[in-house]
Amino acid sequence: MVAARLWNTSRGQVKGGEVHEVSLCRSLAAAVTRAAGERRVEAVEVSIGGLRQVVPDAMAHAWTFVVRGTTLDGAALRITSIPAAITCDDCGATTELGPELGFDCRSCGSGHTRVTSGEEFTLTAIDICDPARVTKGES
Ligand SMILES: [Zn+2]
Repeated sequence: MVAARLWNTSRGQVKGGEVHEVSLCRSLAAAVTRAAGERRVEAVEVSIGGLRQVVPDAMAHAWTFVVRGTTLDGAALRITSIPAAITCDDCGATTELGPELGFDCRSCGSGHTRVTSGEEFTLTAIDICDPARVTKGES
């Protein structure tokens, strides 16, 4: 079974693959469950920065596996990728950060740069499908 193999891997040595995404999905599912309670969740939206090294396909796969059989089973995961960017302290330029581009400012070449985006892992929205719960206030 795929599921069993995934769990075994996550307990053993971590060397990439989907283990990273599985643990992110588990944290995410826990946060969503806390927020949604008993209500049925239709979709979950997350923003993930480029520095998180999350593979969206692997994340989506891990999500379906992690939520299977839970109250979140069937909830869609919508991922928004946020490009990593650095801002230069010397000239103020903000440029996108790529795996092969390094951390030097590409406007002036300065090394005095800060990462200003790309480390996000943010739960941005939870779509709740709850048409039945309108009994409040009735007398
Ligand atoms: Zn600069």
